[in-house]
Amino acid sequence: MNEQVLPTYADVVAASERIAGVAHRTPVMTSRTADSELGAQVFFKCENLQRMGAFKFRGAYNALAKFDEAQRRAGVVAFSSGNHAQGIALSAQLAGIPATIIMPHDAPPSKIAATRGYGADVVLYDRYTQDREQIGRDLAQQRGMTLIPPYDHADVIAGQGTAAKELFEEVGQLDALFVCLGGGGLLSGSALSTRALSPATKLYGVEPEAGNDGQQSFRSGSIVHIDTPKTIADGAQTQHLGNLTFPIICRDVDDILTVSDAQLRAEMRFFAARMKLVVEPTGCLGLAAARAMKAQLQGQRVGIIISGGNVDVARYAELLAG
Ligand SMILES: *Cc1c(COP(=O)(O)O)cnc(C)c1O
Repeated sequence: MNEQVLPTYADVVAASERIAGVAHRTPVMTSRTADSELGAQVFFKCENLQRMGAFKFRGAYNALAKFDEAQRRAGVVAFSSGNHAQGIALSAQLAGIPATIIMPHDAPPSKIAATRGYGADVVLYDRYTQDREQIGRDLAQQRGMTLIPPYDHADVIAGQGTAAKELFEEVGQLDALFVCLGGGGLLSGSALSTRALSPATKLYGVEPEAGNDGQQSFRSGSIVHIDTPKTIADGAQTQHLGNLTFPIICRDVDDILTVSDAQLRAEMRFFAARMKLVVEPTGCLGLAAARAMKAQLQGQRVGIIISGGNVDVARYAELLAG
């Protein structure tokens, strides 16, 4: 049925060679407090400490590193209000490729400025009246630019899978792994690494309960579309899984779990107070789900991917205080 070729673990290995020395090999952190609160041995893969503040740099750089000469000259286009935009902008700058990023006109000025700061050309659109995918496709066609989507792309998935690969290489096999879920690039890439390096691991995707399209899709067997969910987890406000991410998730993931915004705020406080880590709301999905499941995790070795740390400082203070 699926005409597209799904990426494999061999693609993750190739991606890890392409990003070596450019992306950070982020630290794996532990916390005695987390261990005793969960009754498990917990390993946190800290992608909040990745370049530009999230794992998105891995997939973006891997995709751009595969451009041929004509693609490099014409440049890359991406649409995103968040971390994918910054991942593409920074990767393009490092690779010497011109980048155009399509962002909503009401995106946080700090994010627009950060994207321009990496040298990208920012095109603003009205998210209520214009279709960003159409704008992206038009630009790609008119100028011969290559569109790199935020998750549904084999090179993006393979790049995202390098974080879990590094985790298993560092700590060995795990009983369970919790991964944040938006469109599924990180989860499907992590699934490739998990099934290759620690096949018996229970692999869980975690999304905000307000936007549980992934859970609905996983359980019904076909991709469910929803309206943009209202949640503080802005990195997981996707409306549907992808044509590549969905089949990998169905094949390799054990279950999709959901958590509330209140649980995410509690984990932001935990990371700040106990681990001295700034974690954005979406990056807290994994720990929130693991804590809710702790009865099943007693005595186990548990991995959690902290996906990112990009949150406006004033907003961060508000979320911690609230
Ligand atoms: C993009 C993003 C996610 C979700 O990743 P997908 O590959 O879309 O599932 C999770 N956390 C952060 C911080 C992100 O930027």
